[in-house]
Amino acid sequence: MCFDHVDFDAHEHVAIAHDDASGLKAIIAVHDTRLGPALGGTRFWRYDDTDAAIGDALRLSRGMTYKNAVVGLNWGGGKAVIVGDPKQDKSPALWRAYGEALNRLGGLFVTGEDVGMTVADVDAVRRHSPYIAGSSSCAAASGDPSPFTAEGVFLGLIATVKAALGGSDLTGLRVGVLGLGSVGWKLADKLHRAGARLIVADVDADKTKRAADAFGAAVATPAALIGCEMDVFSPCALGGTLDERAVDSLKAFAIAGAANNQLATPDIDAALAQRGILYAPDYVVNAGGVVNVAAEAEGDYDADTVMISVRRIPDTLTAIFNRAKATNRPTSEVADAIARERLEAAQQAA
Ligand code: NAD
Repeated sequence: MCFDHVDFDAHEHVAIAHDDASGLKAIIAVHDTRLGPALGGTRFWRYDDTDAAIGDALRLSRGMTYKNAVVGLNWGGGKAVIVGDPKQDKSPALWRAYGEALNRLGGLFVTGEDVGMTVADVDAVRRHSPYIAGSSSCAAASGDPSPFTAEGVFLGLIATVKAALGGSDLTGLRVGVLGLGSVGWKLADKLHRAGARLIVADVDADKTKRAADAFGAAVATPAALIGCEMDVFSPCALGGTLDERAVDSLKAFAIAGAANNQLATPDIDAALAQRGILYAPDYVVNAGGVVNVAAEAEGDYDADTVMISVRRIPDTLTAIFNRAKATNRPTSEVADAIARERLEAAQQAA
């Protein structure tokens, strides 16, 4: 099953973790450890079937290899998914079983939170395993990564606007934010404060109502948002938003958002470039969270130092935009190439 999977992409290790008593069903994917042990979050999600869960784990894991490489972390790429309903299926027994599954990998994979997980969940797993970061209580606790992710996305969005328009003033700019979760809400708040006009969408109507009240945001349905008149589109929900239909109906001149795996298929980056839409590669613009978690995993956490690293994300993006322009290639292809150069250099140095 795994070897033939369309997203397998030479993964080094894929583990299926199962515990009957607690109901744990997890897939832990380790894509590449040339830069170090794999670091990537755990997603808790209701997948339609096992194949969907494996596909998500593989795609997210590969993305972590590229993300960690391009932002200069000495960590490889991996990701885990737990199959279940995050509102119903969490229990102390399940966290114990998951911690034990991480322990069996002996540090090959270090994880943190992703969609469906909270800092409290990380704390619960940490009682059973040292191989999870983003906790609230250990010596180097880094807590919720979303403020760091949101700061990186905000600054990355400004760098994207600057590369597209030449100026970085957001006043009056129309930004469509899809997904008002931990990152999307904080990003919307920053954009509102910077003078942007917001159009928001979320499957949770309470969140869009709150955004209308707090930020004067216009509200669209998730399906309609992409076709709305806007300057920048910021996908901050789940992956796969940018498919052919979306690209055809998109009116924005730039895309910069927090969601992982925004491109439904790899060829979409060329379609965006052809239409003159500047795409900030997702794993670069959303790297603030992993930079934060890495500091805890390295046992040397200082929020101010992390923020200094997060504030370098716009420089990384600008280098990608410049190289993409100079070589007439799509931005995500260039980001992948930069990551691969670092991975190959590490392999040669080994
Ligand atoms: P979250 O679970 O807090 O928020 C997700 C939001 O998206 C929720 O409000 C949810 O209702 C909404 N949503 C779900 N499906 C939707 C749909 N089909 N249409 C519209 N809205 C929908 O997650 P988060 O932590 O804010 O992460 C958002 C994205 O950013 C994810 O793709 C995640 O992998 C990525 N990301 C997050 C971090 C982080 O620090 N939390 C770091 C890097 C990347």
